[in-house]
Amino acid sequence: MTRTALITGAGIAGEVAAWWLARFGWRCTVIERSSELRTQGQNIDVRGAAREVLRRMPSGGFDGRTPARTVDDEVGDRSTGEVGTRFVDGDDTPLAEFPAGESDTDGATAEREILRGQLAELLFERTRGDVDHRFGLTVLRCEEAPDGLDVTFSDGSSERFDVLLVAEGVGSTTRRRVFGDTAERRALGLTMGYYSVARAPEDDDWWNWYNAPDGRSVTTRPDNVGRTRVTLSFRSDDRHDELSRDEQKLMLRDRFAGAGWRTERLLAGLDVADDLYLEDLGQIVSPTWSSGRVALLGDAAWCATPVSGMGTSLAIVGGYVLAGELAAHVHHRDGFAGYERILRPYVEQAQKLPPGTPQVVHPRSAIGLGVLRTALRVAGSAPVKAVSGGLISPPADKIDLPDYAHLIPVDGNSAR
Ligand SMILES: Cc1cc2nc3c(=O)[nH]c(=O)nc-3n(C[C@H](O)[C@H](O)[C@H](O)COP(=O)(O)OP(=O)(O)OC[C@H]3O[C@@H](n4cnc5c(N)ncnc54)[C@H](O)[C@@H]3O)c2cc1C
Repeated sequence: MTRTALITGAGIAGEVAAWWLARFGWRCTVIERSSELRTQGQNIDVRGAAREVLRRMPSGGFDGRTPARTVDDEVGDRSTGEVGTRFVDGDDTPLAEFPAGESDTDGATAEREILRGQLAELLFERTRGDVDHRFGLTVLRCEEAPDGLDVTFSDGSSERFDVLLVAEGVGSTTRRRVFGDTAERRALGLTMGYYSVARAPEDDDWWNWYNAPDGRSVTTRPDNVGRTRVTLSFRSDDRHDELSRDEQKLMLRDRFAGAGWRTERLLAGLDVADDLYLEDLGQIVSPTWSSGRVALLGDAAWCATPVSGMGTSLAIVGGYVLAGELAAHVHHRDGFAGYERILRPYVEQAQKLPPGTPQVVHPRSAIGLGVLRTALRVAGSAPVKAVSGGLISPPADKIDLPDYAHLIPVDGNSAR
């Protein structure tokens, strides 16, 4: 009997899980709340074990032979071209430069840097032939039956699945519906707004990072479509992600007025931006990732936040391990147990941020800012660069990645 999975959320984690489950012969349905694929987002990196997962995904149909090209190669084709991370002062004088890593894991800028939206599109393209995608749909109810899970959708239809994998991102509503309030949100006291502006001659291929007083930072990054990707971050314990888009713009304009460096030009670009995405950073800590036939995956289970540098890598590795463990076990309960046993230590390491993150790199006082700039000059100097480079490299390869190749049906055909 073909086993069936419903995955909620056509983001990174959901699409990777769907790809692998389809390879293992499962019939997969992915539903997405949004009416179309969400292709917003800034530069994200794919590191360590996540690159290995993408290397195991051939970019064409799966025929059981070693592929000439893989999804990892395709991510490389879409590189943002970022050459490294550079901290600057208000006069644009470099304080420290950390060139891009040349290994799978090193440095603040990873070897594989891609726009989130392009990664989402790529994964969608690679799954769409084998997976049933439905947009503008959510789960209204789900009820456990002895031999399946009866799911009622927001359009009133219902269907039975073997398992439900919730990959809805940090604000998951199905998590709340199934798991109640068991997940803890650990606020980091930092809000980040991302958007893009027209590229100006002063924008180069570095990730330029400027710290302003009052716990603010402004960064610009290159992309592969000729624009500049801007991030405005500030320390605050308030929630801003529920404001309307226009209110968020006004709030950012107000907060960053007079911040210095290139901020005036970047704020002018904010006025006309149609791609602002704002989040109040908070980590999700769930005591368990499964309940009956339902499992949590990706940010919905363990959001580590963008400051961890691991959000997307965890989503990719998580999708792979969850699919593999489900395919490796006859009973979903054993699959969910294996998934959590293998992945939880990896996630916990990623959630352990370097001491003082994000406060230390967002000082509030002029004295704090001076101390940070001195520390950056020292960290960027040749003798300590090797050590400081290590500090900003997340623990991306700290997992013994299982090999599930033997679970792929011999003829290579998926269920659909
Ligand atoms: C539009 C967008 C822009 C982002 N930009 C950045 C960025 O610039 N930098 C960064 O570090 N991280 C960004 N992220 C977060 C980043 O994608 C994740 O941290 C990481 O990739 C883990 O992915 P995920 O698949 O768990 O969640 P996500 O990538 O967040 O995907 C979750 C998906 O689930 C969908 N969804 C939500 N609720 C439901 C529901 N009830 N039913 C069905 N579908 C639902 C969402 O619409 C989304 O498509 C962004 C996420 C999104 C959605």
